[in-house]
Amino acid sequence: SIVVTGATGQLGRLVVAALLDRVPAGDIAAVVRDPGKAADLAARGVALRVADYDQPETLATAFQAGDTVLLISANEVGRRLPQHTAVVEAAQAAGVARLVYTSILGGPRADFRLAEEHKATEQLIVDSGLNHTFLRNGWYTENYTDQMSVQLEHGVLGSAGDGRIGAAPRADYAEAAAVVLTTEGHDNTAYELSGDQAFTLAEYAAELARQSGRPVAYHDLPPEQFLQALTSAGVPAPFAEILVDVDVNAIRPGLLAGGSGDLARLLGRPTVPLADSITAALKNRQ
Ligand code: NDP
Repeated sequence: SIVVTGATGQLGRLVVAALLDRVPAGDIAAVVRDPGKAADLAARGVALRVADYDQPETLATAFQAGDTVLLISANEVGRRLPQHTAVVEAAQAAGVARLVYTSILGGPRADFRLAEEHKATEQLIVDSGLNHTFLRNGWYTENYTDQMSVQLEHGVLGSAGDGRIGAAPRADYAEAAAVVLTTEGHDNTAYELSGDQAFTLAEYAAELARQSGRPVAYHDLPPEQFLQALTSAGVPAPFAEILVDVDVNAIRPGLLAGGSGDLARLLGRPTVPLADSITAALKNRQ
């Protein structure tokens, strides 16, 4: 089977949808911790395998010999290494054929805090000896468009300077994952995935202003002020610190600019441009 972990998450759902366009539902299995969230997937014929990364014994039945597995990185920063370790060990014990992992743009060269667990996970996968593929995903466009209501009121805040962001929508990364999972030729390969046209936050704000007709501007803040703005908006301090670190130590020096063209090559088409994502997000608000 083609097995997708995190299948009830935002990216995972899009991966399963892209797989359903390519292979019969009976070839797909979804690893979920809450089968109640996956009733729609089961109804479409996707097999459910219930497991929680925090309870490694539950992973014993998550994988079978010969499976092609997509490990979608978990979402609790700081706890991901033991969680990913449990998944990799279970995949190894089951004898899966391929392990595909959603990592971060730059892989070993990404020296910012959010990348630490990804780099450690890549290393443990390499050390496992499993046949693997790293999908080193750049930033999701939704990281910005999901904040649109606030941006239309208060502008775009950040500490990214004029660093460029090679973002692409989740659906593009998901489709690329489905391509890798359903085709051959990706053994022990890393893809550097990013949107074709990188943008600065000032350009993002200008495009949002153009399409909305509102005076949206980018306000580049000193890191401590951006941190204050995030925590005041309710972002928990430890995560807010990681987001500020991304702006200062990843986006500003260009580490999330991308530009390899790998994403468009896997898709066989250009990535969805920022302007189109903004149009869709504005329409969604109405
Ligand atoms: P989501 O938070 O929507 O999905 C995370 C998935 O992981 C969910 O399905 C969740 O299960 C599952 N999961 C978390 N903990 C466990 C656990 N203990 N046991 C089993 N399953 C677990 O994130 P996205 O889909 O948006 O993004 C996917 C990943 O990409 C994130 O987890 C994160 O690592 C990374 N990311 C990348 C960003 C980028 O810009 N490139 C931005 C943000 C995150 P459940 O559905 O039950 O909650």
